Amino acid sequence: MPANQFYNVLVTGGAGFIGSHLCERFVREGYNVICVDNFITGTEKNIDQLLTFPNFKFLRHDMTQPLDLEKFQELSLFQIKFKGLHEIYHLACPTSPKHSNSVPVETLLANSHGTYNALEVARRYGSKFLLASTAAVYGDLLPGMTRFKEDYLGYVDALGPRACYNEGKRFAETMTEYYRRYHSVDVKIARIFKTYGPRMKMNDGRLIPDYIMHALENEQIVVHGDPDTFVSSFLYITDLIDALIKMMASKESGPFNVGHNVIYRIHDVAQLIIKLAESSSTVTIAEAYPNLDKLGGPDISLIKEKLGWFPLIDVEEGMKKAIDFMQSQHGVINV
Ligand code: NAD
Repeated sequence: MPANQFYNVLVTGGAGFIGSHLCERFVREGYNVICVDNFITGTEKNIDQLLTFPNFKFLRHDMTQPLDLEKFQELSLFQIKFKGLHEIYHLACPTSPKHSNSVPVETLLANSHGTYNALEVARRYGSKFLLASTAAVYGDLLPGMTRFKEDYLGYVDALGPRACYNEGKRFAETMTEYYRRYHSVDVKIARIFKTYGPRMKMNDGRLIPDYIMHALENEQIVVHGDPDTFVSSFLYITDLIDALIKMMASKESGPFNVGHNVIYRIHDVAQLIIKLAESSSTVTIAEAYPNLDKLGGPDISLIKEKLGWFPLIDVEEGMKKAIDFMQSQHGVINV
């Protein structure tokens, strides 16, 4: 990516957890950043610190509707008509399992109409396009498997409790791939595994913020799942951002698994959080949630081989940073 102010980047879902970190990285490196969000799950608070930068523009827009960038006066400085739009990171989608219950149709539409509208913008400007897909496209592991590899076709229930997200993302991947085949859009698909860090919402039902919040309140942490088989990997946000940027800069389309190669028992992670937060919480075990896919970890050998990317932050270092951030926000509204 050339380092100059004539390079225009669009981030859909830019006011969310991952999107706000991407926007921040680009703004600080001097690129022109257009952040699109409808705040269905994101918050203005995530991008507050960017609003004063002249190379950052926020558009409140629902990606399920067509996006005509040339209609927005506030983008005139970026001269999109003449200079074009170089990269699109398409992240707009309600993400936590809680959202799959509260906004399922919006989730389906973000992945279908939203992805279509974002790809149409890419087609119009010849932009490179990255889809933030998910490990959820794999669904469950088959017996005997511990890691997901990109060539695993998945075991997904089209009518399951989280189908709007899992199937929605599978559809989004298919549409993205067809824009590569039929419209020659330079696309990339990142299958993101569980990622954590500052700016995750505290109360949206995701595992890490939930455990940290309970630890900070010295409340019991409830691990829903068998402690021996309930495992996952945890990627720190800066490692994810590095991977997405590397993917965009490469000639590869993927799909690539983007996650941490080390798999932890969730029970151990809960204990680690208690230790790092110096909390008096205890851990109890309860039945697994029905809408939680069986967890596992990624095989990241492909992205390592093709792009030379691998995670640098281990879970202890990353959790400490996430806990410090949430501690500083504790009591501040972030729901
Ligand atoms: P998030 O909920 O914090 O951010 C998503 C953002 O998209 C929010 O700001 C939301 O308001 C916005 N949005 C949703 N629908 C929209 C629409 N129709 N128009 C405009 N904006 C819309 O989630 P996140 O954790 O930042 O995830 C970002 C992307 O990465 C998502 O596509 C998600 O599926 C993917 N992903 C995340 C993880 C993770 O661990 N966080 C794992 C796998 C995949």
